Amino acid sequence: MEHPENSEEYAGLKVNSGVAQPSIVNPYLSQIRKKRHKLYTAGEYLEGILKGDVSMLSQAVTLIESVLPEHQALAQEVIDKCLPYSGNSVRIGISGVPGAGKSTSIDAFGTHLLDNYGGKLAVLAIDPSSEKTKGSILGDKTRMEKLSVHPKSFIRPSPTAGSLGGVARKTRETIILCEAAGYNHIFVETVGVGQSETACHSMVDYFLLIQLAGTGDELQGIKRGIMEIADGIVINKADGENVEKAELAASHFRNALHLFPMPESGVLPEVRCYSGFYELGIDDVLKMVFDYINKVKENGYFQYRRNEQSKYWMYESINEHLKNDFYYNNKVKELLRNTELDVLGGKMTSFVAAKRLLDTYYEDIRNNR
Ligand code: GDP
Repeated sequence: MEHPENSEEYAGLKVNSGVAQPSIVNPYLSQIRKKRHKLYTAGEYLEGILKGDVSMLSQAVTLIESVLPEHQALAQEVIDKCLPYSGNSVRIGISGVPGAGKSTSIDAFGTHLLDNYGGKLAVLAIDPSSEKTKGSILGDKTRMEKLSVHPKSFIRPSPTAGSLGGVARKTRETIILCEAAGYNHIFVETVGVGQSETACHSMVDYFLLIQLAGTGDELQGIKRGIMEIADGIVINKADGENVEKAELAASHFRNALHLFPMPESGVLPEVRCYSGFYELGIDDVLKMVFDYINKVKENGYFQYRRNEQSKYWMYESINEHLKNDFYYNNKVKELLRNTELDVLGGKMTSFVAAKRLLDTYYEDIRNNR
């Protein structure tokens, strides 16, 4: 019998047109993306923000966090437009080591605040480690169960901007937008590690330090100089068998605070015990914070501190701008690596190397004028 493939009618070697395979990429993705990234004009953002539109506010904050130059330019315009409507809030920094109970406490403080003092609350965060870990744990909604579903709250995790300066600046700019959107209470959460606390301190009216009893942290706090920037200290987890230890820690802190000179604010920092988890003593902590705010508003320190902070941020912006301009300069970039190697190899001193790089930078600026 003849093999079927030898027959003239056999078309096995012909290329059939076949059936088009569906794309592995969702064809609507580009539309979805476009929709999500739709940019509005600065005026439209402002209008949405002033109306308290949370979606517009979120999108504007995303612009602030973007690294794209066109987004940055638009973000600056939005910030400028929001500035006249900002400032009408009480900004409270909340700091503590991981595990101190920051998110549990913010959930409790926040809900009590909204229930008893009214208004709206925005929870922001400064977490310089978020760039490294590719994701921030501070300001995470899932960690604040009650606040995250509260209609009057807005929670935003820490921006990821590499340097602490970048993260802090973006958080500060976000405060401006939140205030324009009518958030009259702002919490800025930060993790208790050195520089980020200082950055947080530079943008809040009150800096609250959460401590734990019996961890040796009492002394650490004093050593790290954190006592100088704390406007109030609270001992968390004062519940169950921990109550006595918490009270003891509180008296240690009170004694330690007496060794410090009177702060510039003219108001001595106070110490309270509470339990974020069992919601004990929360109102007492809030009262301590607002008593301070009332006192400094009366004695003029509140406005003085805000003015000083504005001045600080002006210089910070200049420093950051100059630094970026220098390091992003192409001529500098070309020369930097080899100069660094020369310094490491002992062929050039640090000062000569720095001068060479700076001269290159200035020359490039002059030539491009
Ligand atoms: P954060 O890392 O500072 O944000 O701390 P968390 O809020 O995540 O809390 C760390 C752990 O401490 C969690 O297991 C909490 O349930 C627990 N915790 C927080 N507040 C309290 C409290 O008031 N009492 C007790 N007993 N545990 C608490």
